[in-house]
Amino acid sequence: MKYSATFLVFLLPVLFGCARLDYTVIQNVDLFDGEHVHEGINVVFTDSLITAIHQKRKFNKRAQIIDGRGKTILPPLLNAHVHVREPDDLKAAQSAGIFALLDMFSTNRRASYLRSFRDSVDHALFYSSNVGATVPGGHGTQFRVQIPTLSKQLPPKQFVEERVAEGADYIKLTQEHSMAKLGLPQISALVQAAHQHNRKVVGHISTLSDGLDIARQGVDGLAHIWYRNGSIADAPVLDTFKNNETFIIPTLSVIKRLTDQGQASGFGDRYLSFEQVLAEVKKAHEALKILAGTDAPNFGMNYHDQLFEELFLLTQAGLTEIEALQASTSNIYKTFELDAFSAIEVGTPASFLLIDGKPHQQIEDLWKTKRIWKEGIEIRGG
Ligand SMILES: [Zn+2]
Repeated sequence: MKYSATFLVFLLPVLFGCARLDYTVIQNVDLFDGEHVHEGINVVFTDSLITAIHQKRKFNKRAQIIDGRGKTILPPLLNAHVHVREPDDLKAAQSAGIFALLDMFSTNRRASYLRSFRDSVDHALFYSSNVGATVPGGHGTQFRVQIPTLSKQLPPKQFVEERVAEGADYIKLTQEHSMAKLGLPQISALVQAAHQHNRKVVGHISTLSDGLDIARQGVDGLAHIWYRNGSIADAPVLDTFKNNETFIIPTLSVIKRLTDQGQASGFGDRYLSFEQVLAEVKKAHEALKILAGTDAPNFGMNYHDQLFEELFLLTQAGLTEIEALQASTSNIYKTFELDAFSAIEVGTPASFLLIDGKPHQQIEDLWKTKRIWKEGIEIRGG
């Protein structure tokens, strides 16, 4: 496109003069910055960045003022356990204020396609393990999709190198007690290779004993809380996890559905009761870092407000509202070292949710009306 000289003369003062003075202030708002709550402050942003956070009351006439009384600013939320099927899933998440989905098992083809939406303002960021590590007949092989499995021809080191070459953000492995399992030396070798490539390892388990076994091999986190019958952790077990700094993505959303279905169809004795599962998460929370994840789309769960229910369920397990919000923000981006996310402070991108309510006091307020900004652009009005 060609601009005339006259047009540029008019445009230049707009670009370099007035635009600098334009900024937006959200006044008297509560801010949860990813770790702590600051009550009744002003958050100022200009273009794409947060430029001030303070108590000052007076602002330049050019400032656009938004009354923040009764409202709360939250950083972008993240969901640490999903399986993304298509780009619309990333859109659904983004529209609810969930700026990143951590996929925990995908084919390389699908993962590469979904990664191509990285720069779209409408789509949540996609991270993935790509295919998970398993053996022939192991968890992950039952879905009628051809996947590589560990064998003499495909040793753990090579498996990890192939995933890293595909762009995997972390390594997933599966250890399902009702199916063929990885050998402990295979798990240990997977962990060693993954750590050499600076990748975390997340393990699917359903029993406490499998959780312990893989933690002892150095696996960094569990993709579910243990939920099979008999899986009750005692103090020495929790100490083992604590010494390994194991993190846990309980996925209470999917486990509630599984245990409910078990009760309804007469298989209830295969699993802990949901009350027992909540008690296990409470114990885990007292010793370990908890990350929020739903395991959508299992049981038809969505990619948007199901995460709010997950945070609600975490409070039922004894986390405070603030701890539940940390489980969906700082605990995830710190654990996975996601450079795109950090606590809200001066100089960080103006990406946040403005909620009509106080979810740090009452988690159900997450469902209330919200406005969402992504790098200074309002992508959802209230
Ligand atoms: Zn899953």
